[in-house]
Amino acid sequence: MIRTRVKMLLVIGPTAVGKSSLLNRALSEFKSLRDVITYTTRDPRPGEQNELHYHFVSADKFKELEAQGFFLETATVHGRSYGTPRDQVEKASEQGLTVIMDVDVQGAKKLMALYPEAVSVFIEPPDLDSLRHRFRKRGIIDEADLERRLQSAQLELSQAKDFKHVLVNDDFDSTYESFRKIVEQLINSQ
Ligand code: 5GP
Repeated sequence: MIRTRVKMLLVIGPTAVGKSSLLNRALSEFKSLRDVITYTTRDPRPGEQNELHYHFVSADKFKELEAQGFFLETATVHGRSYGTPRDQVEKASEQGLTVIMDVDVQGAKKLMALYPEAVSVFIEPPDLDSLRHRFRKRGIIDEADLERRLQSAQLELSQAKDFKHVLVNDDFDSTYESFRKIVEQLINSQ
C-alpha cells in the first residue's frame, strides 16, 4: 500500500509552557485540524476527562495495546507510559485533515523519523523563572517536585534546536500569531 503524505504538526516543549492553550486556540480556529487523543497510564488530574484529554488506561491495558501494534510510538514520561494511537492518525489523514499532537521530545523524534514531512514547533518559556512561576500556578508547590520538573524542562530545552520552529511564549497573543501562520501554511500545503 502506498502511504499518503500525512500532514502532521508536532507541538513540543516543557510542561506548563502554554502548549495546550496554543493547540486549543488553533483547534477552534481551524476546522481541518484534528487533535490526536493519546493514551496514558497516569491518573486523570482534576477536571480532566477520559477520551477528551487522554484515553486513561491501566498499565496492563497499555501493554496489551502495545503488543498489538496499536501505537505509532510510546514513551515513558515521569515514570508513566504515553502512546500515540496509529488509528487516529491514519483516519484523520484519510479524511484529509491535518493532525496536531502534543508529545514529549522522545515521541516527537520518533514521529519525525516515521513521518519526515511532519512539521515540529518547540515552545520555549522566556526564562526558567517564568516556568517556575507557571508550575506554581498549576499547583506544583512541593519544592523537590518543582526542582525535578525544572530539571527535566532544562533537558528538553537543550533539544529545542532539533525542531523546525522555536517560539518563545513571552506574550500569548503574539506567540499565537506566529503559531497560527505555521498551522495555516501546513494546512494549505499540497
Ligand atoms: P502530562 O502528563 O503533563 O499531560 O504530559 C506529560 C508529557 O507527555 C507532555 O510533554 C506531553 O507532551 C507528553 N505526551 C502526551 N501524550 C504523549 C504521547 O502519546 N507520546 C509521547 N511521546 N508523549 C506524550
